[in-house]
Amino acid sequence: MNPLKARQNILSPLLSRYSLVIKGSLFLRKLECGQKSCVCHSDPKKRHGPYHVLSFKVQNRYRQVYVPSKLLPKIKKAMLNHARWSSLIDRLTDLTVKEIFSQR
Ligand SMILES: [Zn+2]
Repeated sequence: MNPLKARQNILSPLLSRYSLVIKGSLFLRKLECGQKSCVCHSDPKKRHGPYHVLSFKVQNRYRQVYVPSKLLPKIKKAMLNHARWSSLIDRLTDLTVKEIFSQR
């Protein structure tokens, strides 16, 4: 099989299936609410939650967003897809190095 075809065979089924991708991490955090009179503002132990927070990087800046529970499955799936792409990059690196060095 020619090298280009080999790479296309790896990539094409994945492009549509795993297009939702997040490179980031999830963690739990307790939060203060929007009501200034709420006890959560004066006592850190009475903060609400814990809630899931997604940490990720966009244009070289780290960002954090609160993740509502109903979005959690989709976020986790997108993070799993990132892991899939990462291992794919490793496989493509292997193929690419072999191809480039076989052409010397
Ligand atoms: Zn509160």
